[in-house]
Amino acid sequence: MDDELVKRLARFERSFFPKYREAYRRLVKEGQHPRTLFIGCSDSRIVPYVLTGTGPGDLFVVRNVGNLVPPYDPSGSDPALGAAVEFAVQSLRVRDIVICGHSHCGAIRALYEEPQALRDMPQLARWLDHARDAVLPVTVSEEALRRTEQRSIVLQLERLMGYPAVAAGVAKGAVFLHGWHYIIEEGRILVLDVETGRFVATDVAMGEPAAGAADAASYQLQ
Ligand SMILES: [Zn+2]
Repeated sequence: MDDELVKRLARFERSFFPKYREAYRRLVKEGQHPRTLFIGCSDSRIVPYVLTGTGPGDLFVVRNVGNLVPPYDPSGSDPALGAAVEFAVQSLRVRDIVICGHSHCGAIRALYEEPQALRDMPQLARWLDHARDAVLPVTVSEEALRRTEQRSIVLQLERLMGYPAVAAGVAKGAVFLHGWHYIIEEGRILVLDVETGRFVATDVAMGEPAAGAADAASYQLQ
């Protein structure tokens, strides 16, 4: 194994773990009780614990290329996402489910590339079909990509509602769905307002006036 990686493991054992030994032991003794199922992109620039100020025991995490949710299909060949959803909702009883997309998502960009660009990556090409309905009939631009990222987040949330455990939880008021669009270069997270279908800045989502008139960047979903 890469020496550098092993060195980092040793550092965790020596420096990090001793500081949080009791917390870790409590998490083992009492079991995990995360409140949130976080579905995010595999992109290395997304660090869910940093974004949400959380640590061990707080998030049940599923990550995949493009933060995508396949249509509900209990007999389908890819139950990975469904397994995590069922376990999180029915066994762990999470309250919140987040779909977190992000700016400059390679999965979304790939949707606008010629099919032959993915010729050597057939599984990736198939997987990306789960976001294809979000694609806009326009020439690709940074603006189109940001809008497609947001449209895909909404699409995945809609698919999530096709999972019976999620639909039942939402109907009971026990589960809440959230769409986040992380703008990496700005250090901001735009939050989906389900009533308007718009992604708004966190201060707007919290009901506070935006800091700076034009600062509340919200992109209209179209
Ligand atoms: Zn991504």
